Amino acid sequence: MGSVNTVLNFGAGPAKLPQEVLEYVQKELLNFNGMGMSVMEISHRSKEYMKINSDAQKSVRELLKVPDNYKILFMQGGGTGAFAAVAMNLMNRTGTADYCVTGTWSSKAAQEAAKYGKVNYVFPVAKKPGSIPDQSTWKLDPNASYVYYCANETVDGVEYDYIPETNGVPLVSDMSSSIMTKEFDVSKFGVILAGAQKNIGPAGVTVIIIRDDLIGNPMKICPSVFDFTNIDKNSSIHNTPATFSVYVMNLVFEWIKKNGGVPEMERQAAKKSELLYNTIKESNGFYSCPIDANCRSRMNIPFRVGGAEGNEALEEKFLAEAQKLNMHQLKGHRSVGGIRASLYNAVLYSDVQGLVNFMLEFKKYNS
Ligand SMILES: *Cc1c(COP(=O)(O)O)cnc(C)c1O
Repeated sequence: MGSVNTVLNFGAGPAKLPQEVLEYVQKELLNFNGMGMSVMEISHRSKEYMKINSDAQKSVRELLKVPDNYKILFMQGGGTGAFAAVAMNLMNRTGTADYCVTGTWSSKAAQEAAKYGKVNYVFPVAKKPGSIPDQSTWKLDPNASYVYYCANETVDGVEYDYIPETNGVPLVSDMSSSIMTKEFDVSKFGVILAGAQKNIGPAGVTVIIIRDDLIGNPMKICPSVFDFTNIDKNSSIHNTPATFSVYVMNLVFEWIKKNGGVPEMERQAAKKSELLYNTIKESNGFYSCPIDANCRSRMNIPFRVGGAEGNEALEEKFLAEAQKLNMHQLKGHRSVGGIRASLYNAVLYSDVQGLVNFMLEFKKYNS
């Protein structure tokens, strides 16, 4: 077995999971709950699995203070599946929806929704993501079935530091890469969607939090596995769920509770991202972040090496040397280039210190 502790994993997703959770999974992998079988080998309708499922739902409610009139669903199909599911379950009301496009993921969501109804772009799509137009310039359609935005653009590093005002139109948010990293008021939302594989678990399960009055009006064409009504009625065990993923996610929720809950995740996120942004700021332009200061992500921090446009040869060297020091998955998304460090809940402050120390050294020898 490799010495896992020495690896610093800054991957954007699937991403680092808490070490304690992985060790716990390993410990009971062959014998779950004294059953003599792995959790992967038991029926999804067994009382043991149903308990995992309901414990995990209770934890979402507790950790995010979800009000009673909201349902918590576990689905498959990833964030991308949820893009379609949201449109097929909600767009029926008026046939149109508003989309705030601030980067890769909201752009994909809008394109998916356009298959099922009319999509209104709330503001012009920037050629290069990196800013959020002021709310006073937004063109919201009062007749929209919902207003959609992506709370944190994982690829581009753009994050809202506020909840948009929609004047009563249901608000839908993709929180795939920011859920449980910040306290917020769930009652401001119609639907929240989040793939687990960034902050709360392994790939394979998507969490949906939905206000109950928005359930029950799916399009006729909506597949039963994407129908929120159906998933809710069957407590998210309509068909075989991603049982192992839900099991691990449930353990991650316990880990978050043990480590101070969402308020402490938020405190850590601020501390970790500030350390990295300050290092970039104080590098006299050797490192640079192209994102507007008022919407810089606390989770995914893209930056260039060797000037604002980035020096690709230097960036290659940066990645190679980082890799030698066991710092992994720092390459920027292929559509953006440069470097990207993702600082999700399981990434420790000391991991970021390690990265920052390397950045200071690298600058010393390469500028
Ligand atoms: C990763 C991600 C997605 C896509 O998730 P898949 O599970 O790959 O479909 C969507 N939105 C955001 C913000 C993401 O970070």
